Amino acid sequence: IRVIVRKRPLNKKELERNEADVLECDAQASCLYVNEPKVKVDLTKYTERHTFRQAPECRMPCRFDDVFDEQVDNSQLYEQAVQPLVGTIFRGGKGTCFAYGQTGSGKTFTMSPLPLRAAADIFSIVAQPSYSGLALHVSCYEIYGGKVFDLLNGRKKLEVREDGRRRVQVRHCFACFSLLDCRRISGAAARSTGSTGANDESSRSHSILCFALRTTGEPQKIVGKLSFIDLAGSERGADTYDNDKQTRLEGAEINKSLLALKECIRALDADARHIPFRGSKLTEVLRDSFVGKNARTVMIANVSPNSGSCEHTLNTLRYADRVKGKARRRI
Ligand code: ADP
Ligand code: MG
Repeated sequence: IRVIVRKRPLNKKELERNEADVLECDAQASCLYVNEPKVKVDLTKYTERHTFRQAPECRMPCRFDDVFDEQVDNSQLYEQAVQPLVGTIFRGGKGTCFAYGQTGSGKTFTMSPLPLRAAADIFSIVAQPSYSGLALHVSCYEIYGGKVFDLLNGRKKLEVREDGRRRVQVRHCFACFSLLDCRRISGAAARSTGSTGANDESSRSHSILCFALRTTGEPQKIVGKLSFIDLAGSERGADTYDNDKQTRLEGAEINKSLLALKECIRALDADARHIPFRGSKLTEVLRDSFVGKNARTVMIANVSPNSGSCEHTLNTLRYADRVKGKARRRI
């Protein structure tokens, strides 16, 4: 697992409110500081500084592989985080890239251009004579309230089944023959998510786009897979105290899946014998992408820089740290 932290710039509203940027990235020292504004009991203000360090400079207390500040654009992010995974799928491997963070922290901004960039690279490799006989298939679905919906088929509910080899089969996919195909299909999926109500809806569901590289001859075999996951807003998990029953149930479900995801990655990273995939629908669906010798995962922890989001930002960084730290001492 590689963990990358990405900071977005302050937005117009935050600038208008004169909110401070509490995230300080110090590339030289490989440090990320969160300067949390606090108030003492006597109402004097002070700043609590939380330090997060990048690996390998420091083993404690926190380790991230990369910290990208607001200067880093989507292109650079693609090249550093995702491009290395493309080669993996041609070698029979699986790549998974997911974005974690509170709503508004930049998950969709980060994730949405990645599949097309990857597809362009995949097509250019498939065009080489030594790779002819391979085709790219794409599927898109959404997990909401523990159920899986097909974004390429009118949000039809999909059943999750395990085949004889314990591979979870939920896929309903389309073959893509060109980048244009791919753009059309992922565009349709994006509209299908958006149609029911913009960011509010998307913050309550996990959306997954999956590329499968298959052989074209019969029987078709999957050579490799590359998945992109835009997770539900991490703050949703904390909504469990909401008075509204529906929201409470949703929050509990999201909480469960984000915790299960963390536990699975930690267990995989530690080579544990038992991996708790059954902890949630999300992890059940991802099982196939996570197991196997050649499986690689990149987590992008998206964080908002404004002082009002400080608590969520700290929660995201701690989650990312726990995903990463298998041998972490108890404090
Ligand atoms: P999320 O999917 O986490 O809820 P979004 O991706 O929708 O968040 O981002 C919220 C807003 O912030 C969007 O308007 C988006 O364009 C903007 N934004 C996010 N990240 C960046 C960035 N790195 N640079 C510029 N704008 C960004
Ligand atoms: Mg989003």
